[in-house]
Amino acid sequence: MAAGILRKLLFLVLIAVAATGASARAAPTASVTRTCHTEVAAGTDYATAAALPGLWTCGAGDWSIARPRAFVRFDLSGATRGEPLELSTRLTRFDHMKLIAIGTDGAVAMRDFGPNDLNFATTGWKMRAALPDPGSPLTRVVMRVDGARHVGLLSDARIGPESASATVARSELLLAWLCGLLSVPLIFNFAFYRVLRQSFVLWHASAVLFMLVHTVTASGLINRFVTFSMMQISVLSAFSWGLGIACAAIFLIGLIEPGKLSRRNIWSLRAIVPWVLVWTTFYLFADGALRGLATPLYNASFFPVIVAFVWAMATAARRGSRAVRFQILAWTPLLLACVVRLVTSVELFGLAPQGMMVAQHVAIGLEIVITSLGVADRFLIIKRQRDNAIAHTKILAGLAERDPLTGLYNRRAIEARFSELIADGFRTMAVIDLDQFKAVNDTYGHTVGDSVLQTVAVALMPESDTIAVRMGGEEFLLLLRGRNAADRAERRRQAIPSRVASEMPGLEQLVTASMGLVEYAADTAADFAEIYRRCDELLYNAKDDGRNRTRKARIGKPTPRSAAA
Ligand code: GH3
Ligand code: MG
Ligand code: MG
Repeated sequence: MAAGILRKLLFLVLIAVAATGASARAAPTASVTRTCHTEVAAGTDYATAAALPGLWTCGAGDWSIARPRAFVRFDLSGATRGEPLELSTRLTRFDHMKLIAIGTDGAVAMRDFGPNDLNFATTGWKMRAALPDPGSPLTRVVMRVDGARHVGLLSDARIGPESASATVARSELLLAWLCGLLSVPLIFNFAFYRVLRQSFVLWHASAVLFMLVHTVTASGLINRFVTFSMMQISVLSAFSWGLGIACAAIFLIGLIEPGKLSRRNIWSLRAIVPWVLVWTTFYLFADGALRGLATPLYNASFFPVIVAFVWAMATAARRGSRAVRFQILAWTPLLLACVVRLVTSVELFGLAPQGMMVAQHVAIGLEIVITSLGVADRFLIIKRQRDNAIAHTKILAGLAERDPLTGLYNRRAIEARFSELIADGFRTMAVIDLDQFKAVNDTYGHTVGDSVLQTVAVALMPESDTIAVRMGGEEFLLLLRGRNAADRAERRRQAIPSRVASEMPGLEQLVTASMGLVEYAADTAADFAEIYRRCDELLYNAKDDGRNRTRKARIGKPTPRSAAA
């Protein structure tokens, strides 16, 4: 049974191998045996350039666009007649291109291209052109370029079969995935901003937005939807990249906790903004003698930017920043990709410039995702700190409204809210003063006096319909609402001597209190000061009348309820 299955599997594998071999034999393709290049003065034609063998460099190194015209020559073998071959190269600007196809019989076919004539709607950060057909198998293809602005146009040039749709679809999938990845933090950022109003969240959103624009333009994907010229693609791609970096620098300043960056770090990160904009403009528009310098100088301008980022992150890490940990993780792949691109683009080293577009865009995606996690982390910490601060303020506000000895409200707390309290139904005010309290202090000392005051606060039994206030010294105030307010105040006054006696058995003196009580109408014109003054008068009447008693009065019309009571 198992052996049968195994035999069938083996048979299938054999068929597959045979089929692959057959298909490989069925489609022999031309292969490039040698690639050589040279640079010449403006107007030099191929025949003149070809006649000077010492002029050509064959192999990978020594790429340059310093002179106005460049040739790249591909020597082919094994091509068949009419085989659909194409030239593909890095998506970048130039003034004019000519493709010269030379057949085995010496026939020549040529095609001219302006900067917008190449096919750059096929993504993968490439542009493509079908080769002209000389009518016989190809033996040599020459690309002649005037006014190249990036050496990658020459060094990335390849001759091969017309791009299979599968590879296009794969690179488009990668891009779609990347764009989706970049869109999520955008939504999160706006949600975060609504809660915290921290500007760094908006800088992050801007950086993400620019990176998104950069990804769809630099890759050429944008031309699937709208047709942009080569110039428009270049401007959009270069400025979105520059602005993305500028926003990331400002974002970093805001994200890192206060005090974890030095003033010089902040200064250098801010300087990135004008720096990047100036160099991007130069890169795009430098012409004439400066054209050849545009790309190398532009690339070199990123070294100080990288230094500023690395330096800031190092300072923050040394000072114990938590937020910077995410930034270091986020930026390392992108910085590495940039450093490789920059180093290989320096002509001195003679290396073929590495486009690494896929690697760089994956690194951008990683940067955005990890940074978003960092933003979320910082968001939660800031929110926690803010919540703590609010709670702390509330505690402080509570302290400011309370009397520390008795825990009752103080005068300020009640005076500030008096009109609200009237509206809430508190229409009875009573001022209570302990009788001959000085004698308690004189006999038993201040500490015992304090204990008496604390016991009195308990005897006043504050609850939701009875607010107790210590006005100062041995004077208390009650605000009452609801049924039998005056009686409830009176019962509390009368509870004081027994409560103090039971709580403080050593105290031989009876602690009594006198009270002045006022009931007032809801629409009374009188304010706190006036009602309080009236209570005080009544209190002194009570004192004058022999203490340990209450005197009361009414201000304004009686309310129906108090009239009934
Ligand atoms: P009267 O019946 O006329 O109100 O006499 P009295 O002694 O209560 O009034 P007086 O205003 O002469 O004295 C108030 C005393 O209250 C003076 C002071 O020693 C005491 N006192 C004020 N504040 C405090 C406090 O916070 N703690 C203590 N232990 N005593 C206080
Ligand atoms: Mg007193
Ligand atoms: Mg007093």
